Amino acid sequence: MAELTRLTIAEARDRLRGREFSARELAQAHNLAVEKARPLNAIVLETADRALDMAEVSDKRIANGEEGVLEGIPLAVKDLFCTDGVRATAGSRILGNFVPPYESTVTANLWNAGAVMLGKANMDEFAMGSSNETSCFGPVENPWRLPGNGSPIVPGGSSGGSASIVAARAALGATGTDTGGSVRQPASFTGLVGLKPTYGRCSRWGIIAFASSLDQAGPLTRTVRDAAIMLTAMSGYDPKDSTSADVPVPDFEAALGGDIKGLRVGIPDEYRTDELPAEIAALWQQGLRWLEDAGAETRDVRLPHTKYALPAYYIVAPAEASSNLARYDGVRYGLRVKGEDLVDMYERTRAEGFGPEVTRRVMIGTYVLSEGYYDAYYLQAQKVRTLVARDFENAFEHVDVLLTPTAPSEAFAVGDKSDDPIAMYLNDVFTVPASMAGLPAISVPAGLSKSGLPLGLQLIGKAFDEETVLRTADVLESAAGFEAEPEPWWEMTQ
Ligand code: GLN
Repeated sequence: MAELTRLTIAEARDRLRGREFSARELAQAHNLAVEKARPLNAIVLETADRALDMAEVSDKRIANGEEGVLEGIPLAVKDLFCTDGVRATAGSRILGNFVPPYESTVTANLWNAGAVMLGKANMDEFAMGSSNETSCFGPVENPWRLPGNGSPIVPGGSSGGSASIVAARAALGATGTDTGGSVRQPASFTGLVGLKPTYGRCSRWGIIAFASSLDQAGPLTRTVRDAAIMLTAMSGYDPKDSTSADVPVPDFEAALGGDIKGLRVGIPDEYRTDELPAEIAALWQQGLRWLEDAGAETRDVRLPHTKYALPAYYIVAPAEASSNLARYDGVRYGLRVKGEDLVDMYERTRAEGFGPEVTRRVMIGTYVLSEGYYDAYYLQAQKVRTLVARDFENAFEHVDVLLTPTAPSEAFAVGDKSDDPIAMYLNDVFTVPASMAGLPAISVPAGLSKSGLPLGLQLIGKAFDEETVLRTADVLESAAGFEAEPEPWWEMTQ
C-alpha cells in the first residue's frame, strides 16, 4: 500500500470519495510509514490507534455521503497545538507530560473537516529556531541528505518535524506555525509548499504562545492545491481569540487554475543582498521569467526598511516570548523542581525546564522590556515594525504580489549553526518582514541547488489576499515542475 502515501491530499480525497480505498486503509499505510520514518525523529508522539478510530468514523461519513473537505486525510500536527487528551510539549521539558483538556481551534477545525491525526510533530523548543535542533527530544533530520557524502542536514525550523514527515511521504500534510518563517523556511529546506496566512486568518486559540502578535498557524503540504485545501479548513473567525479576524473564508482551492495575465509582480530591490548566493539569485530571476511567461508584469519595488526588520523582530519576538513564558513556573502544570522556598522552586524549575535558546530569548526579552531600556529597544522596535508594514502598503499600491527567495541558503548541515545564534537568526532575513507586517506568504519549491538540495521561492501578498498568493503560487509551481524526492534512506536503517 506504499503508493497510498505518495498521493496528494487532493488525489486522496477524490479517490476516497470514489471508494477506491477506505480511510482506514489510508490511515494504516500512513501509520506504517510513520513507523518507518522513526530515524528522522520527526514525530514525538505517534497516535496510530487514534488515527484508525478517526478513519473508521470517516469511512462511515463517506458511506453516508456526509464527508467533510478533509475526510479521511491523515495529517501530522506540530506539537505546539493543544490536542484534547493527547500530550502537547512545545518541544520543551518544562511542559513535562502536559495533556491538554481541550483542543486548539485550528485542529478542531481540521477534525471537523474529517482529517485524521497521525501524531504530534517535533519542533524547536517553543518554536524558537530555524533548524529544529533546540527540541528537548533532540534534532529532526531532513529526509534529504547531501548527495555525494550523504551527511545529515537540518529540515529547517521551527516546524521541522512537520516538514520532515510530509517530505518523507509519511503524512499527506501537516500543521506548522510561523512567527518569523517557521512554516516557509522548513518548506524551502525540504522541497514542500509552506503557507503563512494573514495574521488573524487562523485562530491562535489553543496554540502554545511564542510571540502573540506574530504567531500564525499554516499548512505544510506537497502541492499548492493541498495548501489551499488545508487552509480553507483551518481558517475562520474565532471569538475565543481576540485577534482573530471576522472575515469570510473563501474556498481557497477555487482560486487556483486562473490565469495571471496582467498580474503585477513586485521584486523588492532590498532583498538583493551581497550575501545572496548566486544560485539563489539565479533561481529568483528564473521565477520572475516563469511568471512573465505566464503573462505577469514584473516591476521593481522599494521596501526601504527591510534591513531593520530582522533586528526589530529579534526584539519584539523575545519581548513577547518572555511575557508568554512567565506562566511556566512549576505551579500550574508541567515540570516542578523542588526548592527551598517558592522563589527557589521557580528558579530551579525554569533553569531545568528551558533549554539555552529559550533562556536566551527570555533574557533578551526581559531586558528590552525593563525600565530604562523599554523606550530604547522595545518601543523603537515597534516603530520600526510600523515602518516595515508601511513599506509593504506603499509597494502594494503598485503591485499585487511580491516575489523573493524564501531563505538565503539551502538546508545546512546538522550542527553547522547551532553555536552561532546570529548566523541562525540571519536565516530568517527574507521571511521575517512579512511576519512583522502580518501579511500572507507562501514558499513554493522551485529547484535544486548545485549540491542537489531543494530551494524555495516566496510570494508575499496583501492582507487577506491569500487567493492571489495561491493563484500565483500555482502558476509558479507548474512552471518549476519540481518533482525531485529524497532517497528513502530511513527505511533501510531499521
Ligand atoms: N526562526 C525564527 C525564530 O527563531 C522564527 C521562528 C518561528 O517562526 N516560529 O524566532
